[in-house]
This record gives sequence, structure tokens and C-alpha cells, in this order.
Amino acid sequence: MSAANTTATDEQTDTLIRPTLVLNCGSSSIKYALISEDASTRIEGLAENLGLDTARIKHTTLSGEKLEIAIAGGRHKLALQKILELLEQYQFIAVGHRVVHGGREYSEAVRVDDHVLAEVKRLKVLAPLHNPANALGIEAVQALYPDVPQVAVFDTAFHQTMPPVAYRYPIPKALYEDEKIRRYGFHGTSHAYVSNRASSITKASGSHGWLTAHLGNGCSAAAVYEGQSLDTSMGLTPLEGLMMGTRSGDIDPGLHIHLKRILGMSLEETDKMLNSESGLLGISGLSNDLRTIEQAASEGHSDAILAIEMFCYRAGKYLAALSCALPEFTGIVFTGGIGENSAVTRARILDVMRHFGIAVDTDKNKTLVGGAEGSFQSADSAVELWVIPTDEEYRIAQETRAALGLA
Ligand code: ADP
Repeated sequence: MSAANTTATDEQTDTLIRPTLVLNCGSSSIKYALISEDASTRIEGLAENLGLDTARIKHTTLSGEKLEIAIAGGRHKLALQKILELLEQYQFIAVGHRVVHGGREYSEAVRVDDHVLAEVKRLKVLAPLHNPANALGIEAVQALYPDVPQVAVFDTAFHQTMPPVAYRYPIPKALYEDEKIRRYGFHGTSHAYVSNRASSITKASGSHGWLTAHLGNGCSAAAVYEGQSLDTSMGLTPLEGLMMGTRSGDIDPGLHIHLKRILGMSLEETDKMLNSESGLLGISGLSNDLRTIEQAASEGHSDAILAIEMFCYRAGKYLAALSCALPEFTGIVFTGGIGENSAVTRARILDVMRHFGIAVDTDKNKTLVGGAEGSFQSADSAVELWVIPTDEEYRIAQETRAALGLA
């Protein structure tokens, strides 16, 4: 079966011209977007709760109708098949996959062939939750549409411009040379999109150096100069760096052995604790969702208050440190669910960076929520402050076309 061979009504092809399908296959969810060539039209949806009986696809049609489709047995593969069935009529010309880990080999998006697919699978050692799901998505499309070209867009690729001083760990050289132990960084498409967007809308002339803060469930920050990532907060895995929803971020590497000695915890147990039971959830004891924690904090919940203070302190401290990587500091860009919606969190993080001559326009900051884009520094601020809603799907579609020579 080939998407290009299926029939579609004139109305459908007219409204979504030569679209690219973007697939973001996670371990328990699949996000998808079908984006027209000129990026003016898109269809988006989400399969969630995969692996559970409650699995379903939430799909919005081109005419705005909302559908919910149950996935029997919560099976991943079935969900993918259903998604592809829903979109087939629009004759997508290419599929771009978000792939979390590209290791050392990939510094840009690549067309999928047998070697690329084998690499995505092999890199499971570095991204055990993500890369297998990404590979599954590639194989599902391959099986149904063998003639449609596919591209892997790696989360790590944008950070391949980091210099050794930023990407090496101060550990024995052989571990880098033989085992590829180094910092890779993640959220690359998001940092690339928002820094690029900031450079295109700022009035600042000359070279641009941005600190980008992607604050969602996963959180990372990057230093981007003239479109190149020079340093970032995540490392070998997405656990390093900022405090996140359920992830601890930076921690003393001696913790693992200490917990083994005093509690007999295995490495796997400590790893699970740091990835799934820490961060905002671990400190607040309530939730990984900042909205729940903000509500509890407003009612005087002391652990919720501390969770927010720690989140902001650690983010501000990291951004301050990352500024060292920038030859010039034009401004800070906030994005992700928290960065785009919580004006209070943005203000608190900037307050931590109080020695940088940053001045916030408080009223303007409050207006930048719910998908709004804009700047919120006051006239006397030393650097610009931006909220730019991320659009990883758009960026992946763009990179997919470029990799196939369609751009
Ligand atoms: P993911 O990393 O899974 O893509 P998102 O970027 O959607 O996550 O971000 C999820 C986070 O954004 C959650 O912690 C959520 O509480 C937070 N968030 C979303 N909307 C708001 C809001 N209006 N106020 C505060 N936090 C918000």
C-alpha cells in the first residue's frame, strides 16, 4: 500500500498540499502532526495511555471535528496503524520521526535506510525508553508505505556543535574513546526552533547569543550562539541538568554507592528513583504538574513552596552558568509548558539571576501565557527576555524536507 496511490477528494488535497507527517513515538504515547508544505495547515493528534486498557487516540480532523478512538489492548503497533489510516487520505509525501538519541554519528537529520534504523536500535543503550519506540514507528511506516521516504530527526543532533570543553566529562579518556561516554544534550529541535525564531524576530543587530530554557515535564537549557549550540544542561542521558517534573537533574554521583551502602538499593532502583520519583514530584510529594504545586503553594503547603523555590533556583543557577559559553549575551528565551505558561516561574528564575542587569516588565510578562509569543524586558534591561512557544513538529517537518532535498 502506498499513501501516494490512495485516492483523496479534491477538497482534502487542496487544503493540505504535499504534507509531511511528523511522528513522535514515545514509550506510552504517540504524538503526530501532518503539516502542509507551506506550513499553513496542519492536523494534529495524540495516542495516549499506550500499554493500558484506557489507550486511545485523540484526533482532530481537518474540519475541526474531534474524534476519540479506543485502542484494543493498548497495543503500540495498532495505535500506529490507526493513526496512519486516519491520515492516509492526505497523501503525505514524507515522514519525519523524532528520534531521541543519535549518538556521535548524527549531527543532522538523515534519510532512514537499513544502517540508520540499525543505529537507532543500537542506541537503545543510551535511551532505553525512547529509541525502541522510535524504531517501532519507523518500522510500522516502512511496512505500510515502503515507498514513502522517512527521515530521522535526532534530539541530540543540534548539540553536536558543542566543543569538547563542554561535551567531555572529566573522567578517563578511554571511556570517551571506547564507550562514547560524553555529553550529548537533548530537546535539540526545540532549542533550535526557539533560538532561530528569536534571532529572526529580535531587533538586535549583529551576532546573537541566546540562553534557551525549555521547561516542560522534561527541562533543559542551552547556550546558542549564531545558531550553534555551544553547551546544554542535559548530558549522556536526559537526567543531567535542571530539576524536572519527576527527574532530579544534577545530583552527586556518589549518591548511588551511598544508597547501596546504607539502604542496599540496587543501581536500577536508584536510577528509577532519580528518573521517576524525584524533581517537582519528589520534593512536593504531590505531583509532577506545576499547576497542582502552584495551587498547593498558594494554600501554604510548605513542600510545594520549597519545590517551586528549588526548581527556580536550580534553573536560574544553570542559566547563569551557561552564559559563560556565550561570546555575546543577547537574551533569554523561555519555552515548554512551564516556560510558556507560568509568568511567576519566569520571574522567579530571573530573580535568581539578579547580577545580570535583567529588568522584567511585570505586566508584559503576565500577558505572555497560553501560546502567546513576545518579549517582556523593560527598557533598561541588559538583555532581552522572550517567550516563544516551541514548535518541534514544524522544525521536524522542515528538517525532513531539507534532508530529502524537498525544501
Ligand atoms: P512535555 O515535556 O511532556 O512536552 P509540556 O511542555 O507540555 O510537557 O509541559 C508540562 C508542564 O507544563 C507541566 O508541569 C505543567 O504543569 C506545566 N504547565 C502547563 N500549563 C501551565 C500553566 N498554565 N501554569 C503552570 N504550569 C503549566
